[in-house]
Amino acid sequence: MGYQNLCKGSKRLIKDLNRAIVVNFIRENGPVSRAAIAAYTNLTQPTLTAIINVLLNTGIIHKNGKGESSGGRCPALFEFNSQYGFIAGIKIEIDRVLLGLIDLGGKLLTRHEEAFPRGSTGKQVLKVLKRGLEQLPNPGRLLGIGIGVSGFIDMDRGVVIFSPVLNWRNVPIAAPLEKLYKVPVLLDNDVNSLTLAEHWYGAGRPYQNFVCVTVGTGIGSGVVIDNKLYRGSAGGAGEIGHMMIDPDGHLCACGERGCLEAVTADSFLVRTAQDKGIAHSIEDLLTAATNGDRCAQDIFVMMGENLGIGVKNIINLLNPQAIILGGERMNASPFFLPAFTDMVRHHSFPDVARELIITEAQLGEAGFLIGAGTLVTQAIFEPPLYTGRKPGRNIIYATT
Ligand SMILES: [Zn+2]
Repeated sequence: MGYQNLCKGSKRLIKDLNRAIVVNFIRENGPVSRAAIAAYTNLTQPTLTAIINVLLNTGIIHKNGKGESSGGRCPALFEFNSQYGFIAGIKIEIDRVLLGLIDLGGKLLTRHEEAFPRGSTGKQVLKVLKRGLEQLPNPGRLLGIGIGVSGFIDMDRGVVIFSPVLNWRNVPIAAPLEKLYKVPVLLDNDVNSLTLAEHWYGAGRPYQNFVCVTVGTGIGSGVVIDNKLYRGSAGGAGEIGHMMIDPDGHLCACGERGCLEAVTADSFLVRTAQDKGIAHSIEDLLTAATNGDRCAQDIFVMMGENLGIGVKNIINLLNPQAIILGGERMNASPFFLPAFTDMVRHHSFPDVARELIITEAQLGEAGFLIGAGTLVTQAIFEPPLYTGRKPGRNIIYATT
């Protein structure tokens, strides 16, 4: 874009920016009075009135009750309308699709799942996805669809570059759905979407810098730096599970040796339990540990220590405020968390370790769906300076 175009566009941009600032202030702090918005934004009275009127007319905010009287008339309070529209949040797993509907406040309204055979192609899963979307109720305006998938994702193009779990390479997901539903479709790594949900609505709310680590079938992480998800140059950031911790170690599903995942994930737990003749499945191992079997408990201790080694490296690299642990294997946290915490706290630099907060994710499985939907919410409310990835995303500000 040339300089002249930039000047022509700047008036409109400032208008859109001001709208974004006002709507986001109301969304994050509402209900708020006109005086509070004016104090925060420094906008002139006529400009602010014009913006509030536009937002009231679109229905994205509404007047709510009365504020505290300062002697005269009670001032109206403005509140964000989280029911303005809805977003479908989706998680594609190895043999099923989870679907949910969330409102603009991140509330999960419904949940549905559709199974598919393992080894299905992208095209086949797209059909399952459409079937699932048709099962969701229609509560009003659908603003977009957000999808989380395990693997490397090209967010700009909405393509799964590589998913070892699904054995997919270069599978376009967003474009076919956008064509069909005529709404923005955003695709991201599933752990990234969980991390986004925890950041907006869960355990990550107080932190600008944190790492969300998931444990279970695989080991993954989402990295938030200065309040933004860090995705890396090709969407591959946070692949903590394939951090090499022993070049001569066990063969990992990715083809390398000694990955963290190979000594931390469920496959490690089951393999070790089988070798020791304790159990043949995760469920049995967990039952044995719960019943006080020391050998079973020791396997979880080993897993906790191994996870601690990987996370310790992340901590020394990024110095986050918090580590948030999530994923399905948190159901065994009483058995591995002490060993994990011990490894992290006693083997990191003292100042870093003392300040670090270790906490559990709050949203559970629903977090994946809420996070996928939040990809769209974030795109909608992102100040227009940072958009431009996809046309037509900014529905709120696009109105005149
Ligand atoms: Zn690996």
